[in-house]
Amino acid sequence: MEDKNKSKKYKIKIDRNLCIGAASCVALAMKTFALDSENKAVILEEDGDDAEAIKLAAESCPTKAIILENTETGEQEYP
Ligand code: SF4
Repeated sequence: MEDKNKSKKYKIKIDRNLCIGAASCVALAMKTFALDSENKAVILEEDGDDAEAIKLAAESCPTKAIILENTETGEQEYP
């Protein structure tokens, strides 16, 4: 039996060319995203926060630099 809470829902990608360091993703999911020394977002842990928080964080990104792929279907879920 798989533990649903442990299986991560999203594979996360960050398009660093799009990221402008607005940090709203960090504010909404601070265990998942952080800013590096170039002020670009990096992933700390793909399942650092719950899936809803990660989705909200992606939606909050002004440049849509956060790409979420559903690990079950393999389909891009956002944007
Ligand atoms: S919200 Fe978007 S632009 Fe801002 S730091 Fe996160 S990925 Fe970069």
